[in-house]
Amino acid sequence: MKTAFTLLQDPRQNKGTAFSKEERDKYGLNGLLPNVIENLDTQVLRVLGQVDEFEKPINKYIYLMGLLENNETLFFKTVMSNPAKYLPLVYTPTVGEACETFGHIMRSPRGIYISIKEKHRIREILRNWYDKDVRFAVVTDGERILGLGDLGVCGMGIPIGKLCLYTTCAGVPPEYTLPITLDVGTNNKKFLNDPLYPGLRQKRVGGEEYDDFVLEFVNAIKDVFPKICIQWEDFAGAEAVEIMGKYRDKICSFNDDIQGTAAVATGGLLAACYYSGKALTDQRFLFLGAGAAATGIANLLALKMQMNGASKEEAYDRFYMFDVNGLLVKSRKDILDFQEPFVHDMEPNNNFADAILKIKPTAIIGVSTVGGAFNEQVVSNMARLNENPIIFPYSNPTSHAECTAEQAITWTKGKCIFASGSPFAPVTYKGKTYTPGQGNNVYIFPAMGLAIFATEATRVTDKMFITASEALASQVSRSDFEKGLIYPPINSILEVSVNIAIRIAEEIFDSGLAGIEKPTNLEQYIRSKMYQPVYK
Ligand code: NAD
Repeated sequence: MKTAFTLLQDPRQNKGTAFSKEERDKYGLNGLLPNVIENLDTQVLRVLGQVDEFEKPINKYIYLMGLLENNETLFFKTVMSNPAKYLPLVYTPTVGEACETFGHIMRSPRGIYISIKEKHRIREILRNWYDKDVRFAVVTDGERILGLGDLGVCGMGIPIGKLCLYTTCAGVPPEYTLPITLDVGTNNKKFLNDPLYPGLRQKRVGGEEYDDFVLEFVNAIKDVFPKICIQWEDFAGAEAVEIMGKYRDKICSFNDDIQGTAAVATGGLLAACYYSGKALTDQRFLFLGAGAAATGIANLLALKMQMNGASKEEAYDRFYMFDVNGLLVKSRKDILDFQEPFVHDMEPNNNFADAILKIKPTAIIGVSTVGGAFNEQVVSNMARLNENPIIFPYSNPTSHAECTAEQAITWTKGKCIFASGSPFAPVTYKGKTYTPGQGNNVYIFPAMGLAIFATEATRVTDKMFITASEALASQVSRSDFEKGLIYPPINSILEVSVNIAIRIAEEIFDSGLAGIEKPTNLEQYIRSKMYQPVYK
């Protein structure tokens, strides 16, 4: 039932000063609002003025999240009006600080928290959620939040932020989305001693007990929301790989840190190959970091190389990885199963700059979480070996980026092809201005979400991610590339995502994974399923 109270307190129904005269009379809203009747555009102006008043991004974030809790339509209208401005505020890099301080800045809770102590009542907890046809759950256990490590339940800022991007960047209706945190404790000592930490006050549970909990969660969510797609988010490397592998054939699910990152990196590299005239199969990659993101990117690139005609051996031969203990080589005893395909029969090497001279990569990709690791020596070595070295410092947040855009551009004398995980401001070098591209997963997962939502897909395959990366690369223009961009401008993200979603949806129908009949006009159908930030 609509009452003045529910209309003003329910963020999905609240229109604030935009309630019409008729609505005010009908629902008893007269006097509860100032006399003026405004439209959404005027309300957006007010939001803009207030956001700009705050100096610190974290305060802008707190204000915007408050708005989301108060008036969902106005929030999305604002954020969708200028994604380049608002995405860094509602997601990376600001969300990193939001998670680190989550227990202190938390206002009203959002999403579902399931603690391992409540393993036997997960269905009941999920049924407490307000919406009954949830299609997307972004799920984290908070163990590896961005490059910030174990933040326990404070990692909830990530599922909340990511789901905002599903809507903002691809028009997935928010009422189908649900942020979830699995609370298995934390090993973060600072949090365990913080009276304001809002999670279980115990060390992380691992092993069989953890695996059983995740299994029980998957079974429960399938029962409660049969059309669910799970996006596994910010699990630690080994768990991330294991969970993704274990459930990908059992339930519609994917891991954005692995598969989304892989597709966005592949998309950028395909655009770079196209415009620089060097085939993908002629590139040689050296990764700093050999975890979930690195192996995910390399596996997808290797698949794409095989689709382009290379044998499996030829493809994998083009990838080298360096982790905290040095180059992945045969004599090492600490190689994990998922790293095996990237091990080479070479001398051990603990010096990344030196490994570059030996391996002669055309591209270095930083997914190590080590800020500054691509130092002048590293970048200069790449410039010595390559006319246009590919330099991707992908670690987040900004403080963890392996180098800045300015450093890469200066140290390669403006020759590098650059993309980073966190955004960097334009750089002017010798009179030319370069716009650094951001290899932001936001180019992939919202579009994947829209395609899955519209087609009711039953599984998420690697081929769908390859299709997404090809569709992304095809939207980079020569003029983007000449400005330094290997991704389309972020302000066109909604249109870019729709185009990607259409291509993914084609792939879903072709591979027989759709839950619906193929519509005659796929594009029109997909557009008709998209959320519009307008008052109803
Ligand atoms: P992970 O924990 O699975 O892997 C980290 C890897 O870095 C491990 O192999 C570790 O051994 C290695 N490492 C740590 N210290 C090192 C050092 N000093 N020298 C060399 N290697 C070192 O983490 P992940 O999921 O692979 O993520 C890694 C980073 O990539 C994070 O900062 C994350 O934010 C970033 N990332 C960015 C994007 C993106 O921007 N699109 C997407 C996913 C991940």
